[in-house]
Amino acid sequence: MKIRVLTTLLCTSLVVSPAATVAHEDNHAILPAGAVGEIEATGVKMRFDNVVIRGAQIFNGCDEELAQADLLVSGQLISAIGADVEAPEGAFEIDAQGYTLIPGLIDNHWHGVFAEATIGQLMLTGEGYWNLLAARASNNALNRGFTTLRDVAGPMFDVARATDEGLIDGPRVFPSGPALSITAGHQDFRLTRDVPATRDNLHSFELGSMFYITDGVPDVLKRVRENLMQGATHIKLMAGGGVTSSYDPIHTIQFTDQEFQAAVEATEAWGTYVTTHAISDEAVKHSIENGARSVEHGHMATRETLQMMKDEGVWLSMQPFLDDEDAPTLNEFQKAKYTSVVVGTDFVYRTAKELGLKIAFGTDTLFSADLAKRQGAVLAKMERWFTPYEVLKMATCDNAELLKMSQKVTPYPLGPLGVIEEGAYADMILVDGNPLENLDLISDAKANFGMIMKDGIIYKYDME
Ligand SMILES: [Zn+2]
Repeated sequence: MKIRVLTTLLCTSLVVSPAATVAHEDNHAILPAGAVGEIEATGVKMRFDNVVIRGAQIFNGCDEELAQADLLVSGQLISAIGADVEAPEGAFEIDAQGYTLIPGLIDNHWHGVFAEATIGQLMLTGEGYWNLLAARASNNALNRGFTTLRDVAGPMFDVARATDEGLIDGPRVFPSGPALSITAGHQDFRLTRDVPATRDNLHSFELGSMFYITDGVPDVLKRVRENLMQGATHIKLMAGGGVTSSYDPIHTIQFTDQEFQAAVEATEAWGTYVTTHAISDEAVKHSIENGARSVEHGHMATRETLQMMKDEGVWLSMQPFLDDEDAPTLNEFQKAKYTSVVVGTDFVYRTAKELGLKIAFGTDTLFSADLAKRQGAVLAKMERWFTPYEVLKMATCDNAELLKMSQKVTPYPLGPLGVIEEGAYADMILVDGNPLENLDLISDAKANFGMIMKDGIIYKYDME
C-alpha cells in the first residue's frame, strides 16, 4: 500500500522519530534479578487532522459480518464510515486493500508495574523506577495493538495521567490503583518480620501505593476513598487466596462480609464498581454475595456458582492459564497452588460459554518481560475454547462493555471504546489478512499489523 498524499505530511502536526532500538547491557550490580525488557516500539508517531482509510474490510468489534467501507478519522474520533468517504483537504489517505480494520485490543486484566518487572527489581527500587518500568510496559503493549488496559492492582495513577497528557505513549488506562488486601491476604507482600504493624509504620510498598493492607470497616472505607480520590476507575479487592502470594492458601476467604460490603457501598456511591481477585469457588461466591460486579480469575468455580454469576450479571474476567509455555516461574509452594488453579481453566471457560456468562479477556502477565511479549499470543490461545470471532469480540466490544461500568468516572467520556463506529474513539489496527479466519495473525503485531492507531495518532505504520 502506498501513502497517497505524502505532501500533506508537511501541513499537519507530524512527529516522526527514527526507529528506537536499544542495545541493553545488563551490568547493574544491584539488580541480579533480571534484565529490563527491550523496547518494542516502532519509533513511529504520526498525528494528522484527518485520516482516510480506504479498501479495508471492517470488523466493528461486535458483529461477525465484515463491512466493506471507507472510514474517516478526524482528530481523536471516527467521524464517518461509508462508501466513498470524502477526504478533507490535507487528509492522510491509506490504501488498505487486503487488510482488515479491527478495533484496538483491550487487556482487561493488566498490571503495568508488575508485568515486565521482576520481583527482585521491585524489591530493590522505588516509585520513580516503578513508573519508568510501567511506562515501558505500557509502550510495549501499545505496540502490540493493545490500545486500552484495565489495570487491576498497582501504582498506575501517574502512568495513566502521563499517558493521557501525552508525556508518554501508551494505551489508555483504567486504573484501580493499589489493590486492597487484608493482612496475610493475596497482596500482603511484606515479610514476616514486618509485623506487628500499626498505621504509623506503613510498609514502604504501601507508602509507594504498591498495595494497601487494610483491616476493619473504617480503614477499608478510607482506603477505597483514597483510591477514588487519586482517580481509580474501579476498586480491586483481594477476596481469596492467590498463587504468587506467600501466606494465603487458595481456599482462604478474604475480607469479612462487613468489610466487603463497606467497600462496595463506598465504591458504588462514587458511581463505579468493585472487582475481586477470586480463584476458589468459595471466594467467587463470597464476591458475588457481597456485591462485586466483576470477578477476576474464577478458575475453580463450580457450575452452580457460574450459574449464580449469570443470574446476577457478574462479569467473569478470566485468563487462559494452562500448564504450558506461558506458565510463570514459581517456587514449590506457588507451583502447587498454580496446579490446583489450571485444572479448572477448561471447565470454567466451557461452562461459562454454555451458560452465556459475560466473559472478559485479560492476560494478568506478571514479573516477566518475555511473557509480556506474548500478550497477543495469549489472546490467540483463546481459540482453544472460542471461535476467532468470539475471541476478537471479547477483546474489543465485550471488554469495552465491562469498562462501561466505570462510565460515570471514565477518563474517556467522548465516545465508545472497543468498537469501530461513527463517534467512537479512533483506536484501530490494520491487520494484514483476516484475523477472523486466521486468529494467529494477532499474536505477532510486528509482522502482521500494518497500522496501529490510538486516539487518532498512528504509532505503527508498515503498510505494503
Ligand atoms: Zn492479576
